[in-house]
Amino acid sequence: MPQKEIKTTCSYCGVGCGIIVKKDEHNKVYVEGDKEHPVNRGMLCSKGMNLHYVANDVSDRLLYPEMRWSKSHPLERVSWDTALDRAAKVFKSIIQKYGPDSVGFYVSGQCLTEEYYIANKLTKGFLGTNNIDTNSRLCMSSAVVGYKKTFGEDSVPISYEDIELADCFLITGANPAWCHPILFRRIEQHKEKNPDVKILVVDPRKTDSANFADVHLQILPGTDVILYNAIGRRLIERRMIDKNFIKDHTENFEKYKKQVLGTSLKEAATLCGITVDEIKKAAQIIGNSKAFISMWAMGLNQSAIGTHKNYALLNLSLITGQVGKPGCGPFSLTGQPNAMGGREVGGMANLLAVHKDLFNEKHRQEVADFWKVDKISDKAGYTATEMFDALESGKMKAVWVVCTNPMVSMPNAHKIEKALKHAKFVVVQDISNRSDTLEHADLVLPAAAWLEKEGTMTNSERRISYLPKGIEAPGEAKPDVEILCEFAQKMGFEGFDYNSTAEIYQEYCEMTKGSNIDVSELSYDRLKGEGTFQWPVSETHKAGTPRLFQDKKFYTPSQKAMFNVPEFIKNTSNLPNETFPLILTTGRVRDQWHTMTKTGKVSRLKTHYSTPVLEISQVDAFLNKIKDGDVVEVTSAKGVVRVRAKVTDSVKKGVVFLPMHWGKQLQSDLNRANNLTHTIVDPISKEPDFKFTRVSVSKY
Ligand code: SF4
Repeated sequence: MPQKEIKTTCSYCGVGCGIIVKKDEHNKVYVEGDKEHPVNRGMLCSKGMNLHYVANDVSDRLLYPEMRWSKSHPLERVSWDTALDRAAKVFKSIIQKYGPDSVGFYVSGQCLTEEYYIANKLTKGFLGTNNIDTNSRLCMSSAVVGYKKTFGEDSVPISYEDIELADCFLITGANPAWCHPILFRRIEQHKEKNPDVKILVVDPRKTDSANFADVHLQILPGTDVILYNAIGRRLIERRMIDKNFIKDHTENFEKYKKQVLGTSLKEAATLCGITVDEIKKAAQIIGNSKAFISMWAMGLNQSAIGTHKNYALLNLSLITGQVGKPGCGPFSLTGQPNAMGGREVGGMANLLAVHKDLFNEKHRQEVADFWKVDKISDKAGYTATEMFDALESGKMKAVWVVCTNPMVSMPNAHKIEKALKHAKFVVVQDISNRSDTLEHADLVLPAAAWLEKEGTMTNSERRISYLPKGIEAPGEAKPDVEILCEFAQKMGFEGFDYNSTAEIYQEYCEMTKGSNIDVSELSYDRLKGEGTFQWPVSETHKAGTPRLFQDKKFYTPSQKAMFNVPEFIKNTSNLPNETFPLILTTGRVRDQWHTMTKTGKVSRLKTHYSTPVLEISQVDAFLNKIKDGDVVEVTSAKGVVRVRAKVTDSVKKGVVFLPMHWGKQLQSDLNRANNLTHTIVDPISKEPDFKFTRVSVSKY
């Protein structure tokens, strides 16, 4: 029977649900939703409620370090000392020969904040390169730029508690019914109690979220900016805007107005593949709303024009004055559990800790002084895709991959494979032997998993949670912070001899003092004793801050929010042509997480989807002589995927959909969606264009 109880947070998505873990005398764990947790109030989705299977099943776990002495040798078991001595020796020799920018770290939005902080300090402060980027680049970097340019800082202004205060939701480029299920459940419950609450969903697919909506705008992929601008135009024409807010608290409205008036509703409707009436209806609902929330995720961000899509969407909150008040605001839904925590400590190639600016000399010196190093390099590091380009071209020689599986998750997977093959030295630090990236590892470092280590995470609403250690890691696996600190010490760096994770957290907290993300009043003791807090948690906001900008003072130099006029209205991706006439869009399925290294080993999570299928419209299926259930070959300029077809009305003619989770789990890489995706990225956010690849489909 279960005995001890531990309160922690789900390790999957950015919703950040509270979990109670019970442990029996054999150290077996059981999970249930934490009824007292402000996020989920006891609810858990299918992934969360099956987390105990993942924690209890250690059959796939990496148990001890393994290393190969050269590319022609097989991996062999070594001690931690040998492994980290070798890593330090190789890193030192590569840096000496090719300079600090020849090495880098590729980390993850699933890393805890302390891990992210140490990886950053090590790379930017001590290795002397800014080559540290994260798989969060693939997830929300376009939203980060949007927030920074609009509000002056990467700051999500609202909270989940605003859901129950809102009367209108614009959910766009997201399927929270599957990907943020507990958050969506709160929206459903709110609407069930308040039928007048309106839900608009913008999505090229008829998803479960779209099926629940009052209005589903099934636009063509890539036309989001045109739609948001058309809604903006209609709101301006119908005088459904907040003139006082625009005048007193924003800049650049006239330029925005000029742009949106430049495209007629008819033109916009044609380009988006919807009707003028649908645009008018959406505008009417938003214009009549007293508390309007926009929510978005990868559907917007993963685009060649992701930043501009963010600008155009954020502008709708500005023209309606729907920010800094209860029940309203633009809400970027984080995919991963700690993508926001990673940004706080500067876990991207173009950021510094505490949201400081890498290109600001004063900020660089402040960070250098804090870490007691001479300087931080002023050169932007390689972003996720650039890092693998650099490995392929030989500019980078060594990469250290922590808690992520780029062989499946990165665009143009064959290129990633080539890059890893070409690298001189690849370190893979992970928990599971199911990661496809291990195939290219010269050094494998076994890491402790969720419940086997302590640390903090920040969810989508700026809520910081403490995750305690509840069970021992199997074999010789170690917490990621310990691995990174031991490596730093082997490199001869000072400042990594922490006695506890709490000391690392405390160091970061001190760094935040006086900043907009000040958490200097939030200790481990408070987190353990009082629960979760939303930043800032400072001298003046000791209880945390559920809502930002209530005083309408934004973080820009003028303290006004900025209308950013999208430079690109139309999509700049490779458009379909005769050879590749269809647009492939990729995404998630309800019960799987990322590349399935965890959820893939839980049999009950495979009952929803056991294999990937290609969604194709009835018209395209007919034109290509494809029947439901046929094996089809999907081809792009980058590769091939072979899966079964699902003929459905959930996608429009011209659009096909493939889930992104599968790698080689089914003994073939022909299920891997990223065989097909191309290398275009948003030029500002550097986020890949996963949602728009031209392909052809034929019966196999
Ligand atoms: Fe975990 Fe997200 Fe599901 Fe909550 S909604 S239980 S955080 S996967």
